[in-house]
Amino acid sequence: MEQLLEGKTGVVFGVANKRSLAWGCARSLANAGMRLAFTYAGERLESSVKKLAEEVPGSIVLPCDVTKPEEIDTVFESIKDEFGFLDTVVHAIAFARREELQGDFYHTSKDGYMLALEVSAYSLTAITRRAMPLMEGREGSFVTLSYIGADRVIPNYNVMGIAKSALEASVRYLAADLGPRGIRVNAISAGPIRTLSASGVKDFNDMIDHIAAHTPMRRNVTAEEVGDTCLFLAGPHSRGITGSTIFVDAGFHIMGL
Ligand code: NAP
Repeated sequence: MEQLLEGKTGVVFGVANKRSLAWGCARSLANAGMRLAFTYAGERLESSVKKLAEEVPGSIVLPCDVTKPEEIDTVFESIKDEFGFLDTVVHAIAFARREELQGDFYHTSKDGYMLALEVSAYSLTAITRRAMPLMEGREGSFVTLSYIGADRVIPNYNVMGIAKSALEASVRYLAADLGPRGIRVNAISAGPIRTLSASGVKDFNDMIDHIAAHTPMRRNVTAEEVGDTCLFLAGPHSRGITGSTIFVDAGFHIMGL
């Protein structure tokens, strides 16, 4: 039987290790038959990302620090050479300095603010511009990862909340730009999951326990659940959805208390 995403290609930004939400997305897409390119941000991660990518037949692995425009250019030149076209982009990248993810938000430095916004929000726009030509006529889909700290105050999330607000607004503007070309842009607002990045937020373990106790489903979500929503947003079943932020958080976002 033909798989849902057979003959489709995608690029996944943001795999650091097997706990990464990007890896959850990649597994769901690959299991549905999509051929994937993976990127890694620095030499430190090269071998671990290459090892994980070995589990995905036909995949390629490319370096990309999104603060270096020439590396983003090279990613899409390589994808053009290897795949010829592109159907899906998964953007699962965020960064803020550890000292900006604790204490009062008003202490945020200008440098720290700019860096968090550049890596976590602007990068989606920089990537979109380069990916679009490869997605022409293919009903492509962009999926990015956000958090409820974009909408509400989450202690210690601080500048990352501002970055996620900018990211979700970017999703709406990009969706409006790309809609006439048949390309969709959406975000998944995931509940907290223990990953490398998440461990940078002060008191993350207390937060994740609190949320598990207060969600309608009385639990946290998994990277696999996020991955399956990414599969939905990448595939034909979501063809009428663009510019949206979909919560995958066991219902936490509906609670007032
Ligand atoms: P993760 O495994 O640590 O992934 C974050 C990725 O971003 C890493 O691969 C990291 O690479 C990459 N990155 C950082 N700076 C970069 C740069 N300059 N250029 C390219 N890549 C860069 O953590 P994650 O939790 O899965 O995060 C993925 C996305 O999900 C993020 O947008 C995060 O905000 C979002 N999210 C996470 C949660 C959660 O609770 N975990 C909840 C909601 C949303 P390096 O390790 O090399 O820096």
